[in-house]
Amino acid sequence: MPDYKYLIVGGGMAAEAAVHGIREVDRNGSIGLIGAERHPPYDRPPLSKGLWKGKPLKSVWRKSEGMGVTFHLGRRAKQVDPRNRRVTDDEGTVHAFGKLLLATGSSPRRLPFGAEQIIYYRTLDDYERLRALTGQGRRFAVIGGGFIGSEVAAALAMNGKETVLAFPDEGICGRVFPPDIATFLNEYYRKKGVDVLAGARVTGMESRQGQPILKVSQPPNWNEQEVAADGVVAGIGVQPNVELAQAAGLEVDNGIRVDASLRTSHPDIYAAGDVAGFHNPALDTWLRVEHEDNANTMGAMAGRAMAGEKVSYDHLPMFYSDLFDLGYEAVGEIDARLETVADWKDPFREGVIYYVRAGRVRGVLLWNVWEQVDAARRLIAEPGPFRAADLKGRLPA
Ligand code: NAP
Repeated sequence: MPDYKYLIVGGGMAAEAAVHGIREVDRNGSIGLIGAERHPPYDRPPLSKGLWKGKPLKSVWRKSEGMGVTFHLGRRAKQVDPRNRRVTDDEGTVHAFGKLLLATGSSPRRLPFGAEQIIYYRTLDDYERLRALTGQGRRFAVIGGGFIGSEVAAALAMNGKETVLAFPDEGICGRVFPPDIATFLNEYYRKKGVDVLAGARVTGMESRQGQPILKVSQPPNWNEQEVAADGVVAGIGVQPNVELAQAAGLEVDNGIRVDASLRTSHPDIYAAGDVAGFHNPALDTWLRVEHEDNANTMGAMAGRAMAGEKVSYDHLPMFYSDLFDLGYEAVGEIDARLETVADWKDPFREGVIYYVRAGRVRGVLLWNVWEQVDAARRLIAEPGPFRAADLKGRLPA
């Protein structure tokens, strides 16, 4: 039976960051990693950004060779036995561990139609499948106007593809941006050639001579229209992969609950990345964050904690995106339901948006504004109270 001092379940960014974290503290302890994908760990953000702008595929690989990791790839952990410190995978192999990290990530939500014809865009295989389709196809449909939908639609349009983007919200990324930015983005995408179907319901899909045909209804009349495409991509949100933890009796509440040292409710089992719910002291709230910075920072810290270092995860993760030639960074609670204060230097081109609740800054969106993330974190940690007038000019736009 393989027996590891450190066993990692998951092969994504948090898992790979944990390997580095462990090695910063323990140079020799054995590390095993069970990953469901057949690939070794890679960076996910370029799949919907850089790889479509000429970045080479080989640039995505994480640097995990030479770290003394035994990889078990193309395998899924099926059961965790905390009492006997064992994990059984889908080939029936039992792996013993001293400390375990659950970095099981999240899985795309799926539509009740379309089956395997829809690419639920998340993995390198998904990228390769879409890339291959763009070699032959001319017209693509993207369902969902969140992070994946907005980035993939821009990537396809920038690569000369006719692109239809359909989503239920009124504006692109309408859950995170205030309505005026989301509506601006609709028009911006249209100018870039994307057929934006806002407020749309995709109700079904059929295949005619192998070609996917989407059924889409839009207000005000909700008449069904057909959208033919050579490829269909969906990004309609993800769900944390908590099943293993749940079955093992670990505490789960919107993710696997971890304390500041990134331990779950079992002292030798840790969790990090998309799947982990943690308390953030600056916001004084529980968070579960599905972005790269959180995966990297939390993963590395979990690794150090597993190797015996005393840690406290008080990092407020940031995220970023590129939408054609617009770009932004954001930190904290970026939630369109909050009150927002916009401080534009150039409307919709360059400025800072503050997300405020009860006089406190909960999040900051830096729209084509760079190197202000740490300043934004400090502002979020300040008790306030802030009025709109106090915030104008607070961070340089
Ligand atoms: P997402 O950002 O949560 O967006 C989901 C979108 O799907 C929303 O526009 C939502 O609309 C829409 N939607 C929900 N149900 C739908 C349905 N039945 N039909 C059509 N649209 C539907 O999730 P995502 O774009 O799938 O991204 C997946 C994960 O990858 C996220 O965790 C994200 O954080 C991560 N990611 C991050 C980045 C980045 O940081 N730059 C980039 C790519 C991916 P409503 O809002 O109206 O429900």
